[in-house]
Amino acid sequence: MTILSAAKSTFGYSVPTLVAGGGACGLVAALAAHDAGQEVVVIERDPLPRGSTSMSLGALCAAGSADQARHGVEDNADIFLADVMAKTKGTADPVVARAVGAMSGPMIDWLRERHDVLIALDTNWPPAFGHSRMRMHVTPGRSGADLIDQLLAACDRAEIPIVTNARLTGLFADDRTVAGIRTERPDGSVEDIGCDRLILATCGFGGNHAMIERFIPAMAEARYFGWEGNQGDGIRLGAELGGALADMDAYQGLGLLADPAGIDLNPRFLIEGGIQVNRDGLRFSNELDDVSGQGARVIAQPGSRSWVIYDQRIHANCFDLPQYVQLCEVGGVIHAESLAELADRAGINPVGLAVTLASIPIGETDSWGRSFTGLALAPPFYAARVAGAIFHTQGGLTIDAAARVVDAHGQPFPNLFAGGGAARGISGRGASGYLPGAGLASAMTLGHIAGKFTQSLTEKEVG
Ligand SMILES: Cc1cc2nc3c(=O)[nH]c(=O)nc-3n(C[C@H](O)[C@H](O)[C@H](O)COP(=O)(O)OP(=O)(O)OC[C@H]3O[C@@H](n4cnc5c(N)ncnc54)[C@H](O)[C@@H]3O)c2cc1C
Repeated sequence: MTILSAAKSTFGYSVPTLVAGGGACGLVAALAAHDAGQEVVVIERDPLPRGSTSMSLGALCAAGSADQARHGVEDNADIFLADVMAKTKGTADPVVARAVGAMSGPMIDWLRERHDVLIALDTNWPPAFGHSRMRMHVTPGRSGADLIDQLLAACDRAEIPIVTNARLTGLFADDRTVAGIRTERPDGSVEDIGCDRLILATCGFGGNHAMIERFIPAMAEARYFGWEGNQGDGIRLGAELGGALADMDAYQGLGLLADPAGIDLNPRFLIEGGIQVNRDGLRFSNELDDVSGQGARVIAQPGSRSWVIYDQRIHANCFDLPQYVQLCEVGGVIHAESLAELADRAGINPVGLAVTLASIPIGETDSWGRSFTGLALAPPFYAARVAGAIFHTQGGLTIDAAARVVDAHGQPFPNLFAGGGAARGISGRGASGYLPGAGLASAMTLGHIAGKFTQSLTEKEVG
């Protein structure tokens, strides 16, 4: 990663808006820039843009969408901000959290109406894990792969060029102003491209073990289950230029990575009434209070594994999830008529499991603070073995409400923007501030804000 002097640059060509990274953030930024009348080019290090977006469950939280209104869900930026600040214990940047709250709903409406990206409220996701409103939105395929395919198709329809196999490795800049970028091809050749402004959408640093060791040492030995190409390139370049970094220990973890299949189990299994036990058959947490911090809790269990236990009703209710269907197909789910048989086949202590199920306080709240409002689990039973993992880093470049990178004094760089995993998210510090859907919400909303920024728009109009 290098900062090069703009005075020494000779660019093969120049574009008004350059987006680095072709995930959810970069593609939404490109669509927004296009709609703002700017010529835009996306560069992407891989042969095909996929990113962590393609691995995700594709569910994003958003406030104030037209679809929420259609379903009678009252939600807005104030409620969203209050949820974020409560979940992060006040550590999230309120300016960015408010911007995401205010613009996420309109961003979804714009993608639907203007670009035929079919995102709708998921009425199967009740408010949970810190969301006080029903606000998870999904595409019809209910997966990140479907979401990225829809965004790519929209970029294709808008005739936005995406230059693949081009990795951002350097910035040309003088006096805090970016003049262009250096890209490196897989054969080692370099190409320099000029730009009037640059949007960093190269995600976080989950794939960079040295950075994880430095910033999130507690998860250095945990499995990383995100896009390997996310090496923190944009974050490092922005920081070299003088951009401030924040919340670098923040990450999205999950204690629901099916093992050994490597498919993430949707938290809905727990919301619907499932529980998580260790190999002794014992629960070890309130499964619903910290979707992200549950990853570290699972890692702390004997053998670093856990089992999600649920029943036929939950199995049927969740069978609309493509990842779950896939997990069943690859044999990652155990099905048994009795609890004893389930314990035997899963390798869980049968006595511990029986005691655990018998002591679930249906209609009441347990000692961890989980309220069991639904039905008791009943045979036949199901079990899926899961591991804890780190999915995505949430710290990064500090930005303002217009997604401009700012320095340590809060001064924005005039033409450098960041969003998604490259920017500080809305999760505050550590793992526990992560709200479900916040990764894609930040990526797409900040991409939208950065993309539509032009000098003629004031910050108020943008965010
Ligand atoms: C298993 C899993 C499940 C998840 N589920 C959810 C979910 O349901 N809801 C949610 O909100 N979030 C979820 N997340 C988090 C979510 O995926 C991310 O927050 C989001 O995808 C980030 O978007 P992005 O555009 O910043 O990054 P990405 O989608 O990773 O895109 C970054 C792109 O930049 C490219 N790139 C990287 N470096 C360079 C470089 N130097 N030059 C050029 N290109 C580069 C990468 O190849 C990639 O294509 C999940 C993550 C994982 C791993």
